[in-house]
Order: sequence, then structure tokens, then C-alpha cells
Amino acid sequence: MRVLVLGGTTEARALYGLLEARTGRFQATVSLAGATRAPVLPALDVRIGGFGGMAGLRAWLETHGIEAVIDATHPFAAQISGNAVQACTQAGVPLLRVERPGWTPSAGDDWTLVPDMQAAACALGTVPRRVLLTVGRKDLLPFATMDRHDWLLRSVDRPDSALLPPGARVLQARGPFDEAAEETLLRTERIDVIVTKNSGGMATAGKLVAARRLGVAVIMVARPVLAPAPAPVVPDATAAMAWLDALHDHGASTLRDV
Ligand code: NAP
Repeated sequence: MRVLVLGGTTEARALYGLLEARTGRFQATVSLAGATRAPVLPALDVRIGGFGGMAGLRAWLETHGIEAVIDATHPFAAQISGNAVQACTQAGVPLLRVERPGWTPSAGDDWTLVPDMQAAACALGTVPRRVLLTVGRKDLLPFATMDRHDWLLRSVDRPDSALLPPGARVLQARGPFDEAAEETLLRTERIDVIVTKNSGGMATAGKLVAARRLGVAVIMVARPVLAPAPAPVVPDATAAMAWLDALHDHGASTLRDV
């Protein structure tokens, strides 16, 4: 069965591992946006770069005879997920979305929930603060002219200098990050607020546990709402593999209840 995996996440990497062990059953191509400079590549067929919008993706599915698509992109990658829904609907290809559950606050957390990055910048307020900014290098514009705070920005690749808040220091690092190391970072840097996306998952949750312990505030940016009508959703690679097996063995009619 020819499968396209839209990747770029921890869950996608777990799925690559499962698919690498079953190349006799599934012929998978992994698609990456090309956003990360040195991505971790699987031992599967890989293509890198955009498809050219929804129509381009639909054409690619048809040209390559794709029989199933797994959208394992990041919860904040709303554009490609919307394109996948439309392209798969039009091409008649079954689509599954792998989406890790979002984080929710626990007792002792000091979270401010905001709908988007602009609101996160506003929520920092006017009093100077020491900020750990972990929203990724592409979402920095709302913070770019805020000169009253002390910024430590963490991202996999170094951001474009024009987007950096004044005086920001950059910590280039790729998760996972454990709780103890996160606590040390927050203490050493005397961070008093973290700004983060609600990415969910274990790999980057350590900072939230450390923040709870140290009484550090968190500004949490909500996930974008995916549109149009979403695909069926599973939380991890194992469940996605079970869906693929069911599709392979019994056909699309068995998948209605997923
Ligand atoms: P996005 O806004 O939803 O997508 C922008 C465009 O990038 C899409 O329209 C598509 O171009 C291309 N694209 C995105 N994912 C692709 C993929 N897997 N394969 C081929 N083309 C892809 O996405 P984004 O937020 O920029 O994220 C880009 C990638 O980074 C995603 O694969 C995502 O899983 C990963 N990522 C994102 C975040 C985040 O916070 N946004 C965090 C970690 C990882 P065309 O329209 O030309 O097809």
C-alpha cells in the first residue's frame, strides 16, 4: 500500500520507525516542509518542500498513486493540515491525523491562556520581565520590537536576526528537555515567565513541570482551530499503524468508526 506521511514531529518519527520495519506491507514516503535546517531523516523515501498548495498536494497524491495519508504534522501547522483534508477529500484518499493531546494546567500552575501570538505579547505587560520564549523561530514578529524585557529565546535553528526582540539571547537546542535540566535553566537564567505554544507531548513538557515547582508564570498560546472539517484523529504512532493495518486488510469501509 502506498502511504504518504506528512511529518515533522516526534509522533511522525515514531511512525517512521514502525513503517521502516514493514516495508513489505507499506511503501511509505515521508514529506517534510524543509523548515528545519538539519532534519532527522528516516530510512524511508523522503521528499522535502511544499507541494504548491492544496491543488499541488492533490496532484501529487494522484500522480504517485497514494492510497492513504497520515497527517502527523505539528498541532500549529494548520495550513498543511487544512490542505490535506481538502486534497484527500477531492482525490478520494483516506486521511488520518495523528495529534498529541494538548497540555492542561494542574494545581499550582500559574498559566495565562491566550488565543494567539499577538495576545501572548500583550499578556507580557509593561513591567520588565525575564522571559523564556519557546514559540519557534517563525512566530517572533509580535515580540520583535518589545525592548522592555530580557529575552532568552530557545529554538532548533537560529532565527532571522530581524525578528529577534532587542537584546535577545538565543539558545539553539533540540528537545527532548527533561525536568531537571529545565529547572536548572529557569533558575540560572532567573526566568520569571515562559511564553510557549500548547504543543502538547512529553518532549517539551519538562519546562511546565519546572515552572510549577519554581512558581514561574506561563503564557500559553492556544492551538489554532483546524479547518475545514478535520480528519479522524489518533494520539500516537501505534494507533496510526493500527489504522493503516485495518485499511490494508479490510479497506476504507471499516474505518468509519475511527
Ligand atoms: P504550515 O503553516 O501548516 O504550512 C505552511 C506550508 O508549508 C504548507 O502550506 C506547505 O506548503 C508546507 N508544508 C508544511 N508541512 C509540510 C510537510 N510536512 N510536507 C511538505 N510541505 C509542508 O506549517 P508550519 O507551521 O510552517 O510547519 C512546517 C513544518 O514544521 C510542518 O511539517 C510541521 O509538522 C513542522 N513543525 C511545525 C511547528 C510549528 O510550531 N508550526 C513545530 C514543529 C514542527 P505547500 O502549500 O506549498 O504545500
